[in-house]
Amino acid sequence: MKYSHAYADIALIVSLLLLSVFVFRPLAANAAASPAGQSTEQLSSAQLQVENVSIEVTFAPGKLQTPREYLLQWISNSAQAVAHYYGRFPVPRLRLLLTPEPENAGVRFGTTFGGEHPLIKVWLGQFTDEEMLHHDWVMPHEMVHLAFPHVAEEHHWLEEGIATYVEPLARFGVGQVPVEKIWQDLIQGLPHGLPQPGDQGLDHTHTWGRTYWGGALFCFLADLEIRQRTANQRGLQDALRAIVAAGGTMAVAWPLSRALAMGDQAIGAPILTELYDRMKATPTEVDLADFWKRLGVETQGDTIIFHDDAPLASARQAIQAAAQGRELAWASHSE
Ligand SMILES: [Zn+2]
Repeated sequence: MKYSHAYADIALIVSLLLLSVFVFRPLAANAAASPAGQSTEQLSSAQLQVENVSIEVTFAPGKLQTPREYLLQWISNSAQAVAHYYGRFPVPRLRLLLTPEPENAGVRFGTTFGGEHPLIKVWLGQFTDEEMLHHDWVMPHEMVHLAFPHVAEEHHWLEEGIATYVEPLARFGVGQVPVEKIWQDLIQGLPHGLPQPGDQGLDHTHTWGRTYWGGALFCFLADLEIRQRTANQRGLQDALRAIVAAGGTMAVAWPLSRALAMGDQAIGAPILTELYDRMKATPTEVDLADFWKRLGVETQGDTIIFHDDAPLASARQAIQAAAQGRELAWASHSE
């Protein structure tokens, strides 16, 4: 659920100012009473090198049944996915604190702190197993947060939207999830991002749906518009990469306009800025059913069926191919 995570990210904004107070404060004082799992007092910290990032992993006191090697592999896999999507990991150094939650199972939620020494905190249940780590979206979601500058709180929806939209694409890009997962997530999630009665646009409607999925809707519309206007030569991924390349990571705070302009420059058209102007203070209606038809994505029960003769099928394929890091030979010829 992304709901509980929303609270974590709200805490993030507030806590940025109090960073040093929160770091490495043990939170699991009562874990000693837990019936199973190894104590993290035996889990020593680790230094991981994944692509260009050096990750210092620390464990808060408590108990975890998951072997340390699985936890480190999960962190490496998540970093690998994000580095692949962006062409490199957004920051050179990262601190990561894992905190066990007694009696629980699964990856519970995460929070990312920016600034000069970025920190990701993730809470996971004592009984988390390898399968749960394999299916986890929280760790890559938090790592994607590192790839965009900290912006004013009214634009928080874009920080969450990018993380929500990019996370499955990044995992797909390195073969961690099947292609269907990208579209399944969007089909199930994007309706939550549509404006409800009383909506005043993304900058002024701070509900869970409009924050996570309204932000993802912005990314989805931007990606498709970029694909259509550049004959599939460029996509949102190019814009996001350019922002990181210009130093726009969570290590810094930028005005949103600067980040959007940086992305637009990479695409060669002011698509992000124009879309933002359309959606920031207006409840823009979007016909999602029509988009699925034009993209050639059909759901039949739990199954996704792709139609490659649909009018926007080439845009869908270009988004997928870009995430995988390969160019489509025919992309330059399509409309
Ligand atoms: Zn988030």
